[in-house]
Amino acid sequence: MENKPSSNFLKNIVNEDLKSGNVDHIITRFPPEPNGYLHIGHAKSIILNFELADEFKGKTNLRFDDTNPVKEDTEYVESIKEDVLWLGYEWDNLFFASDYFEEMYNRAVLLIKKGMAYVCDSTAEEIRKMRGSLIEVGQKSPYRDRSAEENLILFERMRKGEFKDGQKVLRAKIDMASPNINMRDPVLYRIAHATHHNTGDKWCIYPMYDFAHPLEDAIEGVTHSICTMEFEDHRPLYDWVIRECEMEEIPHQYEFARLNMTNTVMSKRKLKQLVDEHVVDGWDDPRMPTISGLRRRGYTPEAIRSFAREIGVAKADSVVDSKMLEFFIREDLKLKAPRTMAVLEPLKVVITNYPEDQVEMLEAEINSENPEMGTRQIPFSREIYIEQDDFMENPPAKYFRLFPGNEVRLKNAYFIKCNNIVKDENGKVIELHCTYDLETKSGSGFTGRKVKGTIHWVDAAQAVPAEFRLYEPLILDQDEDDESSFIEHINPQSLEIVHGFVEPNIKGSKPQEKFQFFRHGYFNVDPISSKQEKLVFNRIVPLKSSFQLTK
Ligand code: ATP
Ligand code: MG
Repeated sequence: MENKPSSNFLKNIVNEDLKSGNVDHIITRFPPEPNGYLHIGHAKSIILNFELADEFKGKTNLRFDDTNPVKEDTEYVESIKEDVLWLGYEWDNLFFASDYFEEMYNRAVLLIKKGMAYVCDSTAEEIRKMRGSLIEVGQKSPYRDRSAEENLILFERMRKGEFKDGQKVLRAKIDMASPNINMRDPVLYRIAHATHHNTGDKWCIYPMYDFAHPLEDAIEGVTHSICTMEFEDHRPLYDWVIRECEMEEIPHQYEFARLNMTNTVMSKRKLKQLVDEHVVDGWDDPRMPTISGLRRRGYTPEAIRSFAREIGVAKADSVVDSKMLEFFIREDLKLKAPRTMAVLEPLKVVITNYPEDQVEMLEAEINSENPEMGTRQIPFSREIYIEQDDFMENPPAKYFRLFPGNEVRLKNAYFIKCNNIVKDENGKVIELHCTYDLETKSGSGFTGRKVKGTIHWVDAAQAVPAEFRLYEPLILDQDEDDESSFIEHINPQSLEIVHGFVEPNIKGSKPQEKFQFFRHGYFNVDPISSKQEKLVFNRIVPLKSSFQLTK
């Protein structure tokens, strides 16, 4: 079950633009920088851009905003493509900003010729100091009045590699007294002697985001260029670049609030730090909020899309409860995932009055909420495993599971009663001796007496050993005014590994197959660690949550 795309202020804008004739078609783009793996925040942007164009029969480009050679890599390019496709979106065009470097260079030359850009020899530090502040105007660079001729020669020499990194930059000549600091002669080009993943060593000058991005949009004929709120103050510069570079197509920038989520860091820089410092086991660690991590954990594209549609698109900043994402995976898997029994921390039970060599097959539904999924056969014999914490020697009041003298229902099977306990030399309970009552067979209509507890189990002889990986949030939430680093808030208990058994029915489970394990939650077969001889399951989410969707 998936949510339908919902309305938002951007759809209204596009609608108006089409009605008024401002535009006659729609082109959006998703413009990741290939300097890390995509995360759930990017998913919001992907879904927004693709669905916006789709609703108005437009097109969406996947464009790699690859203008910083130092941090970018083809590994990231490939992972981003995979993630976008997995989310269910096919781009109309695949573009690389680096393919436009020549054109960008020519536009910069045009600005120089028009007297609207100059080569500045100030250091980064000097430029920062001279930029002024919100209450102080900036100071003009001593190089601001170089002639166009001189600037053209210097800019060409920059391109040829005659200067070192940081020795010179190209700046726009706009207004050092502008109330908008972004307009105080921003840097357009910098020198970086670095090998680029796409253009190799062809270039040693690279355009800055504020110069490159509007040009990329215009070159591609993007009509609605959607970005996050922190770029709102850059919009005048965006429009300036489009206008002064005399671009034929005129894109417009619109901003929306980025996704923030509780218990989650959502910046590629921080996620990369977790990977580099081996806090997690790679970008696709199931605890990561990356698309690849969520996929490996067991999230489905349907759940992520429903989540993105539910949170909607607005301009006001907010923090979404990460339990909402969990809500949507439960919704998605509720009717889809087969339900079976798994014992995560086993305790052996011998049913002393059950015939020694007998094995019977019990029938049960595969998904009690979806009868169309049919039934399965579960073996039952004299020895079974139950969950260690479904037994207590000295239970508190209201404990309805197994304890000496008490009777419970084995899910899909019989009532059993605990008669004896076997302990090891340390006093730890290692085995229970129980008796069963043939009359109480599940589905037989037995009404003779009632029991208060139902517990799950697996047949000991046929059970399939499995590893279960149980997750808690990777990041513990911090107070708003707490300025300590997120690294200090890493949850030391974010992963617990236990070894138990699953029903023989799911013995041959394939990577990424998903199940609901009775009482434990939804699980995914880990695509990397799971082997036919040793299944490994990631818990996607437990079954229950206090989270409610408020409508
Ligand atoms: P990060 O801050 O995580 O490094 P970024 O914005 O630098 O992200 P880009 O690759 O530049 O990453 O982003 C590609 C697109 O995804 C941009 O349009 C950006 O606005 C959008 N985006 C990034 N993070 C979020 C988020 N948390 N919520 C919504 N959109 C986001
Ligand atoms: Mg970025």
